[in-house]
Amino acid sequence: MIITDTHTHLYSEAFDSDRNEMIQRAIDEGVTRFFIPAIDSQYTNAMLQLEQEYPQNVFLMMGLHPTSVKENYESELAHVEEMLAKRSFYAIGEIGIDLYWDKSTLDIQKKAFRHQIQLAKAYNLPIVIHCREAFEEIFEVLESEKSDDLFGIFHCFTGTMEDAQRAIGYNMKLGIGGVVTFKNGKIDQFLNQIDLKHIVLETDSPYLAPKPYRGKRNESAYIVQVLEKLSELYGLSKEKIGEITTQNSKDIFKV
Ligand SMILES: [Zn+2]
Repeated sequence: MIITDTHTHLYSEAFDSDRNEMIQRAIDEGVTRFFIPAIDSQYTNAMLQLEQEYPQNVFLMMGLHPTSVKENYESELAHVEEMLAKRSFYAIGEIGIDLYWDKSTLDIQKKAFRHQIQLAKAYNLPIVIHCREAFEEIFEVLESEKSDDLFGIFHCFTGTMEDAQRAIGYNMKLGIGGVVTFKNGKIDQFLNQIDLKHIVLETDSPYLAPKPYRGKRNESAYIVQVLEKLSELYGLSKEKIGEITTQNSKDIFKV
């Protein structure tokens, strides 16, 4: 079985004590493709090192995370541009708007989001969207930037059926992770009405561990719990879900 984790922060400090064992546990479960979202410039070296150690398994994105959009955001965006000019990446991410942690930066978050969407178009790359308490703001930017060459993933999708359809309308696939296993996660109630061709799997580790690990450190091997839940919701085997969602990830990332 091949499983693709389309969103995992393998370079996180949370894995400093057992990173290689943790990655091996995932590989042993069939998780052989890891897509690594950027946060800001302080993690770039750790990401590059990870790629060097796992060249067959690790695929890097480049971008500035909305919670890292602060006073120095222009120099952070310059770093993103510099890296994009220097070498290739598989996506611009994670980018977007987060109004949970800080509402005061909404204006510059929007600017950074829009700017990075334009970079994605220029490099013909997908975007990976982070959205927290900001559906309307995200959709407003997507509406003004929509085009055939804008596509990607709505990471950690937790909205309504209507939000899902809007996101799909902007050429986005839905990144489904641990939340689908939560009792109060809600997306399990309508997900099987959405064609699997719009779905990719993710963990967002070390965050958002699925049941029965909820509240603990998440890791890519736990994507199996997400796979099991989708297998139940769609009435398909785990192998089939792994195969379809891996193909979807290949369509997006072109690898
Ligand atoms: Zn993330």
